[in-house]
Amino acid sequence: MNIHTLLDRYRVDDGKRFRLKDHDPGDCAGLSIEKAEAKRLLADGVERLAKLQEVLYAQDRWSVLTIFQAMDAAGKDSAIKHVMSGINPQGCQVHAFKVPSAEELDHDFLWRTTRALPERGRIGIFNRSYYEEVLVVRVHPELLERQQLPPDLVSKRIWGHRFAAIRAHEQHLAESGYLVLKFFLHLSREEQRRRFLERLGDPEKLWKFSLGDVAERRHWDAYQEAYEDAIRETAAPHAPWFVVPADQKWFTRLVVMAAVVDGLESLKMTYPTVPPEKRAEYDKARIELEQE
Ligand code: AMP
Ligand code: MG
Repeated sequence: MNIHTLLDRYRVDDGKRFRLKDHDPGDCAGLSIEKAEAKRLLADGVERLAKLQEVLYAQDRWSVLTIFQAMDAAGKDSAIKHVMSGINPQGCQVHAFKVPSAEELDHDFLWRTTRALPERGRIGIFNRSYYEEVLVVRVHPELLERQQLPPDLVSKRIWGHRFAAIRAHEQHLAESGYLVLKFFLHLSREEQRRRFLERLGDPEKLWKFSLGDVAERRHWDAYQEAYEDAIRETAAPHAPWFVVPADQKWFTRLVVMAAVVDGLESLKMTYPTVPPEKRAEYDKARIELEQE
């Protein structure tokens, strides 16, 4: 199986018929790869990504925005860590979006992420994003009350408005030279339980656990519905979702890596060349250096 057929299983670029239950969190595309083999494939990907990143930076035209969304313990942090391990930190910007600050709440919901968009030539990573505004805020509508919106604008229709705003925003990004790739790490409920228990039982992992995580888990079904709806409403060819099986970490990393590499390759970038009118000057510089 090549990387394109692999990715086709997980890419959603038209949400109309999308249903989360058609996607198995434990899927690994029939690959049963030895740990060493998975590591090698990942290292391969890291190497290709490093080369692509260099052209991206040199060419300085496109920006890449990768968005990571998932339930707790789905492996967002570790996917980000592994996928980005080989690339030049100068060309990469990671932002984690937490509970909004008072200043952030005093602005529209796209403000804080817009300020954090990657510059041209860079890869931006959003660990959570404006999608929280149709996920956690939808599951806990009381969060809307903290947003200081004029009361007339707060009704059941707000989610539809937010989806429309996100669609328009991502369309605008695509038309401005952003490659937008969105990842939902799809974890099963049972695997989340297992990982929470592992965190509770390991002094070196305990810091990752918070009591709030168990509280959120109680809203599992509401979250799954919110994710399904968000993907249905916002999947597009210029801003696809990848619904990545998350029960097996090695596979999650491979799919994310493949999607980022494939996305960058689709840009068909080349290194900038010397413009014809500058040729002569470059030749002069070369001769001067050679004769020194
Ligand atoms: P963590 O990523 O585990 O550090 O947790 C960050 C927390 O911030 C999560 O519980 C998110 O649901 C929450 N969060 C992120 N963005 C928003 C938002 N826009 N509104 C409310 N909560 C948010
Ligand atoms: Mg957490």
